[in-house]
Amino acid sequence: MRSQKFGASIRKLVDKAIAAKRTSYECPKCFKVKVKRKSNGVWECRSCGAVLSGGAYSLRTEAGEISARVTKEYAKSE
Ligand SMILES: [Zn+2]
Repeated sequence: MRSQKFGASIRKLVDKAIAAKRTSYECPKCFKVKVKRKSNGVWECRSCGAVLSGGAYSLRTEAGEISARVTKEYAKSE
């Protein structure tokens, strides 16, 4: 989305999100850089077919990392 309607700073954020959404990520299952965005928050490995949940525009997000860490801590204390 490129529009002159918005300012430079917001356009930079959009460009960054679009770039993050288009890149391939490393698959946690087969370790190949083949994970592509399928739809909002859904990522699919083009090599082994694994479907992963992730951020809307990138596979790993800051909030996701925190959530994973908290879940791990809870699993340990059980
Ligand atoms: Zn894979």
